[in-house]
Amino acid sequence: MQDQAAATPICDQGDAPPASPVAAGSRAEVSRRLGLLRAELAGRGLAGFVVPLADEHQGEYLPARAQRLSWLTGFTGSAGQAVILAETAAIFVDGRYTLQVRDEVPVDLLTPHQIPDESVGDWLRGLLRPGDRIGYDAWLHTPAQVARLRAAVEGAGGTLAAVDGNPLDAVWVDQPPPPGAPAVPHPLVYAGETAAAKRLRIADLVAGGGADAVVLSAPDSIAWLLNVRGGDVPCTPFVLSFALLHRDGQVDWFVDRAKLGADMAAHLGNGVRVEPPAALGERLDALVRGGARLMADPGSAPAWVLDRIAAAGGAAIQADDPCMLPKACKNAIEIAGFRAAHRRDGVALARFLAWLAAEAGHGIDELDAVERLRAFRAASDLYRGGSFETISGSGPNGAIVHYRSSPRTNRKLGPGELYLVDSGGQYPDATTDVTRTVAVGEPSAEMRDRFTRVLKGHIAIATAIFPRGTAGSQLDALARHALWQAGLDFDHGTGHGVGSYLSVHEGPHRISKGGSGVALRPGMVVSNEPGYYKTGAYGIRIENLVTVVPVDLPGAERPMLGFETLTLAPIDRTLVAVELLTAGERAWLDAYHSRVRSDLGPLVDEATRAWLAGATRPLAA
Ligand code: ZN
Ligand code: ZN
Repeated sequence: MQDQAAATPICDQGDAPPASPVAAGSRAEVSRRLGLLRAELAGRGLAGFVVPLADEHQGEYLPARAQRLSWLTGFTGSAGQAVILAETAAIFVDGRYTLQVRDEVPVDLLTPHQIPDESVGDWLRGLLRPGDRIGYDAWLHTPAQVARLRAAVEGAGGTLAAVDGNPLDAVWVDQPPPPGAPAVPHPLVYAGETAAAKRLRIADLVAGGGADAVVLSAPDSIAWLLNVRGGDVPCTPFVLSFALLHRDGQVDWFVDRAKLGADMAAHLGNGVRVEPPAALGERLDALVRGGARLMADPGSAPAWVLDRIAAAGGAAIQADDPCMLPKACKNAIEIAGFRAAHRRDGVALARFLAWLAAEAGHGIDELDAVERLRAFRAASDLYRGGSFETISGSGPNGAIVHYRSSPRTNRKLGPGELYLVDSGGQYPDATTDVTRTVAVGEPSAEMRDRFTRVLKGHIAIATAIFPRGTAGSQLDALARHALWQAGLDFDHGTGHGVGSYLSVHEGPHRISKGGSGVALRPGMVVSNEPGYYKTGAYGIRIENLVTVVPVDLPGAERPMLGFETLTLAPIDRTLVAVELLTAGERAWLDAYHSRVRSDLGPLVDEATRAWLAGATRPLAA
């Protein structure tokens, strides 16, 4: 994988949205849809149009309405972009999707190109005539993305032009409507801080940044700020909407009122005015004309927002979304929720792993395992669904980091193979994300060596002690050290932030080679997920969630931090080459297993408890 991939946590790559129900499907249908779009572009005087895989909120999961790329081309991967010209068209995907794109897209109609080796700019060169206008929908790109597109188009001799109304939407006659799932209050018992207190806290940051108001477009920021949750997209309880937070703590929430139940007015209180989504533009105009200085995040806001502010005669203060860092630092109630949710999730995992130990190698396949795990989680009435689509990879499929089982790729869990399962749940008190790798039958010496090196990296992160101010990028090498010593590595980040009943991936912190440079702070939740992948053979990953805690170190000369592990599930002892572990590492694994046993034992049935006792017994035993 590329450097870019090395800096990206695994689930950013892996947790693709479910296959789109709107995908074009056949060559004839792609051809017909391209024809419709081209006629529309010609009518608007456009030489071409850019079709990204994005919605107005730059979300990881898109509502069906925003699945424009798959509607047009048939491509169902989680990242990509098409550029449609009058005579030709191309689709740009990264290395994860070079095979899939050829399966799904008629390549005589849209030529596949692999980024970053092949760029939009290179492709356009020679295809554009001077003055050709290439359209883009400013709602679907961030300002930084628009700047890159503009450079590509202008470098090829054309001009980039924002469209007024998406031309693809104009020809997509049965385009699904915007999602309208009910929005519900996120109770204080889970949130731990009232929305009113959060509004004042963030308003201070807005004022401190020299702004009168901030435009919020990230659904997780709005959900956190207002203590609301919804169901507009898969796997994350978002209410798709926009908001303006003023420096006095008042909020204008631009959301479809039909989503709000009877209890929402009382929950929101007087400080939140509900406005129709279409009113955002005029509200921005009025604020700018009144002299207000508006803040927006160029990394997540649609370019449309900054363009609108500029058109009204203002200049946005470009700054990080002010909710991001406070949201990432969970309060004591939220951390208690994480612990409770992980006991609940741990019960499901223990039952699942016990079932797996009995059944693997006896005919079950990847999809059977996905369904069993889902059912064990669903046995809790607090389960609110998966936090992403489960990665269930047997043998060589485990080595494909973005793997998604389908009836076509489904494999049995065969003896002598490894099985990797990465999954997570949404609960009202937390979001979970856990990976276990288990041996089916007898593992090879090489598998045990590699697994143990991954485990050493996992333990190195779990036990790390570091001064305040340390960024995740500074810890990343700890997770790789034992692999590097054997000439091995893995091509994804070691850890990503996780939301509290929000997105399974959230910033601003991470543990990765590139990293964000954001210091780890107490209360942050982050995954600890080193891995190793042998193409065509097997994949290994050990993932627990951890939270950053202060560490009271005798004699310490400065404030120190460390991690508390939240995830509770046995790590396969049969894959551990004990002789490769230090005494400290053995002690860590034994203590972790002892905790798993004592925390989960009382909560599971007798058969699972018996299995758990064996799976968590000390290494020496
Ligand atoms: Zn993860
Ligand atoms: Zn995961």
